[in-house]
Amino acid sequence: MSAEESSLRSFEPGLKIIVAIDGPAGAGKSTIARHLARHFGLLNLETGAMYRAFALKALRAELPLDESFGLVRLAAETTIRLEPGEEENRVLLDGEDVTGLLRNQIVTDAASRVSVFPAVRAWMVRLQQQLGAGGGVVMEGRDIGTVVFPHAEVKIFLDAAPEVRGLRRFDQLGPAAAVQPEEVIRDLRARDERDRNRADSPLKPAPDAVLLDSTHMTLEQAVEAAEAIVAAQLNQPHRGEML
Ligand code: C5P
Repeated sequence: MSAEESSLRSFEPGLKIIVAIDGPAGAGKSTIARHLARHFGLLNLETGAMYRAFALKALRAELPLDESFGLVRLAAETTIRLEPGEEENRVLLDGEDVTGLLRNQIVTDAASRVSVFPAVRAWMVRLQQQLGAGGGVVMEGRDIGTVVFPHAEVKIFLDAAPEVRGLRRFDQLGPAAAVQPEEVIRDLRARDERDRNRADSPLKPAPDAVLLDSTHMTLEQAVEAAEAIVAAQLNQPHRGEML
């Protein structure tokens, strides 16, 4: 066992750190977060799935998605839970398992719309802070390192060129989705635009985030690079003293 491996091993299983992964859609956050969680024995929490679940509820209630009033009232009577799963989080909306209903285009677009409202975000941020309070988590989203956990021990901002992200998303969707790559890239740009330009918690790297651009990497290479970033943080002497 290398020195690095043995020092990492000594942190497990009580590794109480928070790893924040932020970045635009299709940058590979979920894949990387899942691998980091397995590798370092952490819980993987996908905050996008929470916005998606809330959007699903708003769609079912036929609420206008461009007005905060109804959405905020809806939030007050909504519970969302995330449970760890093999590939992705299991998402419980008011106790109902909605995991399989969240990845279609309608919910994706609705999640991007409802997430611009400060009151909706404030509610989500509280939920996410409760979920991660005990540490031992990889949390991925758009504002984890800037707003949800500004004191996270490790922050990674993952990015890639829009065309590359769009093509990766297109490959993930597969032929059953019956969409053209251009449509996927267009949708991704529209979501990016909304995320980066909203007044509250816009998507941007925290000042102390490590930037990881995976444009010219395979996802495997990006996973390796992210593992190295976390390992480097854990091996900092001051971290070792604190843990
Ligand atoms: O990450 P995912 O694509 O599942 O997120 C769905 C939508 O939720 C995003 O397009 C984004 O607008 C929003 N979101 C957010 N803040 C987060 C996570 C997701 O605004 N922390």
